This record gives sequence, C-alpha cells and structure tokens, in this order.
Amino acid sequence: MRASRKVAPAPSAVVSALRRRYPPETGGAAGPFRTLVATVLSQRTREERTAEAAGRLFAAYPDAPSLAAASPGEVVPLIRPAGFYNQKAPVIIEIARRLVADFGGEVPRDLESLLSLPGVGRKTANCVLVYGFGLPAIPVDTHVHRISNRLGWVRTRSPEETELALRALLPRRYWPDINELLVLFGRELCRPVGPRCPECPLAGCPSRGILRTGRRKGRAYAPGFRSSLLGGLGKALGGRGVS
Ligand code: SF4
Repeated sequence: MRASRKVAPAPSAVVSALRRRYPPETGGAAGPFRTLVATVLSQRTREERTAEAAGRLFAAYPDAPSLAAASPGEVVPLIRPAGFYNQKAPVIIEIARRLVADFGGEVPRDLESLLSLPGVGRKTANCVLVYGFGLPAIPVDTHVHRISNRLGWVRTRSPEETELALRALLPRRYWPDINELLVLFGRELCRPVGPRCPECPLAGCPSRGILRTGRRKGRAYAPGFRSSLLGGLGKALGGRGVS
C-alpha cells in the first residue's frame, strides 16, 4: 500500500482562514517615513516599547528634515524605551540625512533604494513598501519563515531564502497580507515552541501531529487582541502598525 503524501495547504485557503480569524482593521496608513524609522526602532524591542519610543520621537521630529538636523544627544533620551538606543539614534539620524541628501527628503518607494539606506535590511525595506506605501511586498520575519516551512510552502534555511521562495509561490494579491496574518497567527497559535495545533483552523498542515504541541496559555485571539500587538505602535505611527 502506498503511503499518502502530505500536500501543503493552498495559499488561498490559508489566507482566507486567517483573514476570517484576523479581520482587517481600519485606520489610515502611518506613512513611509514613520514606518521606516519605527521599524528600525523595533529591532530587538518589544512592540509596546517601540510604540512609546516612536511616539516621543515623532512628536519632536515628525519628518526627515527635522530628524536630519538632530544630534544623537537629543534623540537618545526620546528613544530610550526602545533599547539599544545608543546604536539606533545615529542610525536613524543618518537615514534621515540620506533621505534629505539623496531623495529630496522623501522615502524612496523601491526596494533597491531602500536597501541602500543604513540599518535597512530586506525585512525593514519590505515593511516600508507594504505598510508605508501599500505596495505588494513580503516582509519575512521569524514567524513568516517558520510558518511557511511548517505549512510545507517552502523548505528554506533563512528568512531571505523564504522571501524569494514565497515571491515565486504566492500570487501577488496575497503579498500585502501575508506578513500581518502570519505574525498574528504565529503569536497566537503557531508558536515557535509548543504550537497549538489542536486549535488550529488550517486544514491539511503537514506539520500537524509531528510537532510537540503546547498547552493553552496566555491570551487567545479576541477582539482587542491585535490592538495590543499592532495597535500601540500603529497609534504612535498615526495609523496602521508594523510588525
Ligand atoms: S497545524 Fe500546528 S504547525 Fe500546522 S499551522 Fe497549525 S499550529 Fe502551525
């Protein structure tokens, strides 16, 4: 008897199921400058701490020209909640100076130009394209990388490989949603350790029954759950949060 081969669930089914679980939130876009700077601030920092730092920073320096004229000594106290503030302050000031010098004070809307900015890697650049400009791109963090492999969509060893594989696999209409949906899903159910497979709404996941599942603990998704994840930062940004 031939063993049945597990097939990865279709992206359309995954996106539909997760969108039902995590309906889109309304709110204006944060804008590319705030999205860019807040994403740099968010590196190795909890979301609520990033939101506090970003809110303080943007109240004093709302755009690239004003931040470009600041000194690290002026910026560090404002972004102190974000952690690694001594390293991040000169980076975000240099980003602002490059925007003023090379891009007329505006954030460029193409990947190559974004990657030329200091402190900007592929995840940050793709976040700016999706959350700042509303363009199709796939920011890949640890949640997107892990879940894409668990679902059998990709077999990759790094987020960079995953991004390229997902770009080839996923129809472009899904690109803007995939980061938000998988980040929320990865925090609630498909956790790094102890995924809650018995509660998972995704039919046909080839990792179901293979991974050691976790007990239910912490918060389940409920109205307001996402507000605690993305809303705080989004509020500080003046619109939709980033991840
Ligand atoms: S069945 Fe388990 S491993 Fe698969 S997507 Fe759901 S939570 Fe993740």
